[in-house]
Amino acid sequence: MAQWLEAAVAENFAWHPHLCSLRVELPGFDFIAGQFVRLAVETAQGRLQRAYSLVNAPGDTRLDFLLTPVADGKVSPRLHALQAGDRLWVSQPATGFFTLDELPAGETLWLMATGTGIGPYLSMLATDEPWQRFKRIVLVHGVRQVQDLVYRDRIASWQQRYPGQFHYQPVVTRESHPEALQARLPQLIQNRQLQQAAGAQFDLDSQVMLCGNPEMIKAVRAELEILGLRKNLRSSPGHITVEQYWN
Ligand SMILES: Cc1cc2nc3c(=O)[nH]c(=O)nc-3n(C[C@H](O)[C@H](O)[C@H](O)COP(=O)(O)OP(=O)(O)OC[C@H]3O[C@@H](n4cnc5c(N)ncnc54)[C@H](O)[C@@H]3O)c2cc1C
Repeated sequence: MAQWLEAAVAENFAWHPHLCSLRVELPGFDFIAGQFVRLAVETAQGRLQRAYSLVNAPGDTRLDFLLTPVADGKVSPRLHALQAGDRLWVSQPATGFFTLDELPAGETLWLMATGTGIGPYLSMLATDEPWQRFKRIVLVHGVRQVQDLVYRDRIASWQQRYPGQFHYQPVVTRESHPEALQARLPQLIQNRQLQQAAGAQFDLDSQVMLCGNPEMIKAVRAELEILGLRKNLRSSPGHITVEQYWN
């Protein structure tokens, strides 16, 4: 049964005015990389909660959440406004099946996200599992603006440590950037620009994880199905595993 743990904000790190990493002191919190918890705040309407993916590696003493305040949202603007020392509630245990142990074997692991959906992948990549299981790992981060390309230091450290095995592909739709592709993800798959940039294919030896915006997930999934990939279900193993952040 889920419990609520009261915790203190250790840091609210602003990447820019509409994107932050909220770091919460909670030593000993156990989870599998890719899982999420519910964060709750007290409001005049009572305690309100929403799901947020864990960005930190399992075993870290601080939980890390990447969040954007949704306009007119009930919870995210309040979480975004929290500062060091403020209190919030974290649900325990962490839950969710968007984890590497749910994936069948494969050669290439595609980790594709929009916006804050990169969070679970950062947690997975901080563990040994993906590096040991997959010959090639492609992290694709689709954002609107260059300032949304977060955790670049951490990503650069994996680029240095795993050259040949790891490819990071930023995709920025509303600005040009020398390293980034500039179009919607389904289009980049259709015209093969993404595969070319990554030096990898979407084939039956691929495992593809999709996280974030539901429209992106639907459209990318449709493109992958044209290429013969199928949704991964426990009852029927396939190639596409999804985590949709809203409906
Ligand atoms: C498994 C899971 C993990 C999640 N992890 C994260 C995370 O790591 N970081 C994060 O920022 N959010 C995450 N979310 C989304 C989060 O749970 C909330 O839905 C979001 O913060 C909005 O909550 P709200 O109460 O402010 O908005 P609400 O008052 O609940 O709703 C506002 C409206 O905005 C839509 N919406 C929700 N999120 C977004 C968004 N990002 N962009 C545009 N529209 C949106 C909703 O469909 C709704 O119609 C996750 C959701 C799920 C299901």
